[in-house]
Amino acid sequence: MKVTVDFDQCEANGICVGIAPDVFELDDDDNLHVHEAEVTEANRADIETAVAQCPKAALKLS
Ligand code: SF4
Repeated sequence: MKVTVDFDQCEANGICVGIAPDVFELDDDDNLHVHEAEVTEANRADIETAVAQCPKAALKLS
């Protein structure tokens, strides 16, 4: 399973970065990057929380 970002929806508010900083990063130009798209036992809880908390529903697991 992987997490994907709908960049048309993402407003770069950094909520997912705060929840899962090992997975998501905002660069200096406010572009979101996904460092660990693959869901693992170690990052699963954080990724699921980020997906649930994204106010733009821009994160999806598939
Ligand atoms: S929480 Fe959602 S809207 Fe905010 S930076 Fe992450 S993907 Fe984008």
